[in-house]
Amino acid sequence: MKAVVFHAIGDIRIEDVPEPAIEAPTDAIVRLTASAICGTDLHFVRGTFSGLDKGQILGHEGVGIVESLGEGVASIKVGQRVIIPSTIGCGHCQYCDQQFYAQCDNANPGGKLAGTAFFGGPAAAGGYKGLQAEKARVPWADTNLVPVPDEISDDQAILMSDILPTAWFGADLADIEQGDDVVVFGCGPVGQLAIASAMVMGGRVIAVDRLPDRLDMARRQGAQTINFDEVDPVEAIRALTGGDGARRIIDAVGIDAQHAHDGPAEPGLPGKLADAVEQRLIEPAVKTLGRHFIGGDGPTQVSRWAVEAIAKGGTLAIIGVYPPSDTHFPIGQAMNKNITIRMGNCNHRRYYDVLIDHVRSGRLDPTKILTQTEPMTGAIEAYEAFDARQPGWMKVELEPSA
Ligand SMILES: [Zn+2]
Ligand SMILES: [Zn+2]
Repeated sequence: MKAVVFHAIGDIRIEDVPEPAIEAPTDAIVRLTASAICGTDLHFVRGTFSGLDKGQILGHEGVGIVESLGEGVASIKVGQRVIIPSTIGCGHCQYCDQQFYAQCDNANPGGKLAGTAFFGGPAAAGGYKGLQAEKARVPWADTNLVPVPDEISDDQAILMSDILPTAWFGADLADIEQGDDVVVFGCGPVGQLAIASAMVMGGRVIAVDRLPDRLDMARRQGAQTINFDEVDPVEAIRALTGGDGARRIIDAVGIDAQHAHDGPAEPGLPGKLADAVEQRLIEPAVKTLGRHFIGGDGPTQVSRWAVEAIAKGGTLAIIGVYPPSDTHFPIGQAMNKNITIRMGNCNHRRYYDVLIDHVRSGRLDPTKILTQTEPMTGAIEAYEAFDARQPGWMKVELEPSA
């Protein structure tokens, strides 16, 4: 079968690879009808997240049809159309029992302290083969496959594999109540869907970014917007909230500001991807929308703005990805404002009942951020265009069987 295969930083190829097989009785094999390129994938290709093994199949977003099942799968049927949530849980450990799937004790073969397991990542994240392929093996299929109703299209469903649950998770962490002022830092794909999620929860949203097309999209959703290239975002947020600051803030930015501050984080990339990096046109997407958040104050820019702009006693939700070594959070100021900080990797599986309901009813339409659909055979070009953030490239769907 064909798959998008990682060879080295800056070197990915579409190749023939062996088809996956059932390895455990709880496995399923899914024939993918949709996949997608995510900002996280770009991090691997660029080398800002390291550790991807040569030969690993990329991708952690997928929708498809169940092709075969191990004999221990109870709730899923062959032929069913399913969403594959990006993070993997066993479904029966002490964390999965509490719906903390991202902290599952069993999914990462590295052990219970090894961290979140997900598809298409490095060995440290479990090493599960990715979903930019014609087929994939899904472990613990009863937990890690979500049957999707016919009324939900593949275009909608693929955005429910990772980014809509992640955005909803951010809004959920922020504890939004009807009428709350909610600031969303970062207006990439996850930020946009965090805006939509916050609105469904009754929030009054203020979106912060610097890129005009992203701010336009946020405005079209009904958010007020702040371009931090033009105004001081902290003062602007205070002005829009009667001087109090925002009760709820979602950071959908994360690691990129960090790397940019630390200096040349990009190793020498060969080929066109390197050119894109050179031109400083990289626009990471999804969870880590932050390169354009590089400010004069360096890596803590978004954290600092958030802590300054949050109301006393407010809640800050961090869904942008930060490296474990990060120590730059302004903890003293946060402590002295009695704020609550919640953060983490999304527990995707937790949110499907509510998200399927919202998407089916039209209250949430994730496809407003989908800008390209390409056959998987065009994946390399799609990565390059996405990597270079050519105008209008917000979110790319791949069709493995096209
Ligand atoms: Zn993703
Ligand atoms: Zn578990």
